[in-house]
This record gives sequence, structure tokens and C-alpha cells, in this order.
Amino acid sequence: MATHTTEGERYLHVLAVPFPAQGHLTPLMRFCKLLLKHYQNRGSLRVTFLDFYPPNDSADHSFSFKFHHDRLLQRVRFPFPNFSQQLPSLQTFFDSLLCIESGLHQLIQFFNCHGLPVTCLVTDFMTTFPTQDVADKLGISRIALFTSSASRLLLINYASQNDTFSIEQVMDAINSTERRDEVFCDSVPGLPRLLNKDLPQFKHITDDTRTVWEFANRSWKACNSRAHAVVLNTFEELEPSACGLLSDDCDVPVYDVGLWIESLSGDTSTSMREEDERCIGWLDQQPTSSVLYISFGSTTMLSKGQFEALLHGVIDSQQRFLWVLRPGLIDDIDYCSASKEIISRSENRGFVVDWAPQLRVLSHSSVGGFLSHCGWNSTIESIANGVPILCWPYFADQHMNARFIVDEWRMGLQFKHTGEGGYLVESYEIETAIRSLMEGEEGSILRKNAHALKQKSSQCFESSGSSLLKLDALIKDMETSIQ
Ligand code: UDP
Repeated sequence: MATHTTEGERYLHVLAVPFPAQGHLTPLMRFCKLLLKHYQNRGSLRVTFLDFYPPNDSADHSFSFKFHHDRLLQRVRFPFPNFSQQLPSLQTFFDSLLCIESGLHQLIQFFNCHGLPVTCLVTDFMTTFPTQDVADKLGISRIALFTSSASRLLLINYASQNDTFSIEQVMDAINSTERRDEVFCDSVPGLPRLLNKDLPQFKHITDDTRTVWEFANRSWKACNSRAHAVVLNTFEELEPSACGLLSDDCDVPVYDVGLWIESLSGDTSTSMREEDERCIGWLDQQPTSSVLYISFGSTTMLSKGQFEALLHGVIDSQQRFLWVLRPGLIDDIDYCSASKEIISRSENRGFVVDWAPQLRVLSHSSVGGFLSHCGWNSTIESIANGVPILCWPYFADQHMNARFIVDEWRMGLQFKHTGEGGYLVESYEIETAIRSLMEGEEGSILRKNAHALKQKSSQCFESSGSSLLKLDALIKDMETSIQ
């Protein structure tokens, strides 16, 4: 990396490349803002952030140079499919990644010609192949952002190095619905005993869990040998074993510098959908800790049967609720009438939105619990706000996150009786679990534990806090590499 001078001033120019889905874009944007905030007193840092928009046709690979200037943060629009509406097939995904490579070359050349050379790429782990290749070819450092937990990365690290942990075993474990509760492996250093049901799987997207595991392993090998550093949105006190082992055992420096929510007061929204602010006014009128917030993130899909069981369970629990009924969440459903049905059966106890300002919701004093699919962002946003979770994990790392929420951090509940594939939950069980979380003794213990974690998460950015120290080290590392 090289430093550059505008009117005698040294500066770093970071080009940030997200993976275009909500759960990936948000943490990268937050990380860039964190860097800008903490870099303020050291010198100049510019960040150029790639914003993706749907291309007009398959040949539309050109950048649109409409800079959105926020002084040091500028955004460049780039044509790329938006995966937040629907997850792609793997082939579409790989094809799309290829178009990033040529586009990135063009953009970096553009900046070179205009006296703003890029000094560092900060890019999503999922984009490792195109972006690490570009970085290597142009001699630019690349920092990889891994948007899930340290424990998930530790599992990838282990799987990519140990042939005994074969993909055949993984596939067998994932496909054995009747052996979901059996132990898969209790010897992955740094991880609790893994059950078959904890393993990341992607059957509902592509029926090709194998390809995704292999893709993750290959991406990690490339990061571990070629990236300048890896950044994680977690903190040492939350995942001590995983964070410790990653920083001791990996060839690449790994910086656990999260949680970024806490350190970014006044964080502006990074939503790809329009947030319905009316729910905040409704929350203002509800008693403290009385509302269950229900959201399954940006990509998870429920069947109509699951939705109906959930609706019965929520209504029968008699609790107040705020429900994100995202268009696309349920196949084969008329959203307008589903939403009216929820409202009419709730007797004013409920509020339904297409998309919520989730951080504001979770930090609202009326919210007392979160029924969540356990995506990593939702998990850490709940931790940062001390809200206990009722876990309904669905795919990817969500099952593993749920295990940590329930067994390691003891700030959540999981349904006991699951049916085929683990996804069919009976409505009486949903009702009972919601009551336990919101009004039972168990719920108040979980709430206390969640509050204790919230305290720890806010301390990590106080002076000498673990994340602040790591962030300082990362910034020094970035500066050293540009001498
Ligand atoms: N989110 C939001 N409003 C909603 C639902 C979700 O802003 O109504 C945000 C949420 O705050 C989180 C992200 O969408 O930052 C979802 O990421 P997560 O990792 O939890 O799940 P994913 O969508 O990747 O499955």
C-alpha cells in the first residue's frame, strides 16, 4: 500500500466492496464508519463504498459515477443483482462475482487517473475470489470482512485444514433429519460439542450445501494466505475461545473489533428497503419490556404452514408484538390480507410492518423479547441492546448462532419439539415459548443475562476495552503497511 498526498496531506483511500445482501452490506458500511470515526485524529482517510443497483441487462457492467459525497465517505453505484429480494442460484452468484473483477479494475484505474489512488481494499469474505485477485494483481492490500461469528470462521478454518472433517460426513449429518440431535463432533478446538443440527446448511436455496461448504473453505484458504488482515464483528468477551484461537493459529492477522453498533451513536440506516417509522410511535405507547419483536431478517422464507402456526402461537400467547411481515417472507400469500388478519385477530395488541428500523426497535424500552431467525447481525444487535431471543434458526450459520444464544450465553430459548427438517413448530409450543420469554421466571433470568452481555459489549469500546485496543492495532497495521 502507498500513501498519497493531496495538497501535502497524507491519506489512505479505502475502497469498500460489500456482498450485495442486507446482512453483508450493513456490517461493511458500519465498519467503514467506525474506521472513519477512529481515524479522525490520525491523518486522513477516504472511503469509497460500492453501492449496487440492478443492471438493465446482462451486458450492463459499467460504473455510474454519481458520487454521494459525505466529505470522506463517497459512494459509487455499480450494476449488480440485488440478492436481498431472493437468494440466487449458485451459478448466478458465481457469474455475478466475475463481473465485479473487471469492474473493479476499471474503477481503480479511474481513481488513479484522477489523482485519488486506492491504497486498500476492504471487501466481504464472500467476494474473496474477484477482490483478492484484483488486489494481488495491482499490489494493493486487501482486508477481508467476515460478517458472521468468530466461531463460524473457526469451524471453516478447521474444516478447510482437516480431512477427517470430510464433506461426506457433513452431508450425511445434515441430511439425517432423524439424527439431528446426535453429536457430530466434540473435538473442534475452541467450539462447544457440535450436534448434527448445528451445522450450516443451505438445502432450501440450491440443494447444494456441499458447494457452499467447499466455496467457504476455498475462500478461507485464499484469505488466510493472501489477505492483509481479517476483520470480525464480534468481541473477545463474547467468543473468547474462538477469538483467541483464530488470532493464535491463523497465518493472517485476525482482528475481532466488534460490536460496531455500540460505538456508532447516531448510526444512520443502511437498509436496502424503506423502514416503516410508524412502529416507533406505536412502541412509545406500550408498557416497558412488554413487546415481542418478530423478524426473520432479509432472506429467510417460511412456508404457509409455518406462518399459520406462528400466527396462532403469537395470538394465543396474548402478548403485545411488533411483526415484520417482509414481502417475500412466505410463499404463496397475499400480504395485504395476511397483515389485516394479524391485526384484526390481535385486538390492538399488535403492529405489522413490511420492514422495521430494527436497531431503533431493539433499543426501545418497550421491547422485551425478540423472536428471531438468529442471523448474526440480528443476534449482535439484540446483544448490544440486552434483548433476550426466542430462536427460530433456519439456514446458514443461524443454527450455530442459536446454540450460542441458548447454551453459551444463556440469553435465549429454542423450541423443543421440531418436526421435519427442524422447521415445523407446533403453535402450542410457540405460544408457550413466547409466554416463558415475555412473562415467565425463565424469561427474566434470560433478560438479566442479556443485560449483562449488553454491559460487556458496551465496555469493549471504552478506553482499554478489547475492541478498541484491537482497532488501534488494526489501524497501526494499516499505516505500517503503507510506509
Ligand atoms: N433488518 C432491518 N429491518 C427489518 C429486518 C431486518 O433493518 O425489518 C436488518 C437487521 O437490523 C440486520 C439485517 O437486517 O442488520 C439482517 O441481517 P441478519 O444477519 O440478522 O440476517 P440476514 O438478513 O442476513 O438473514
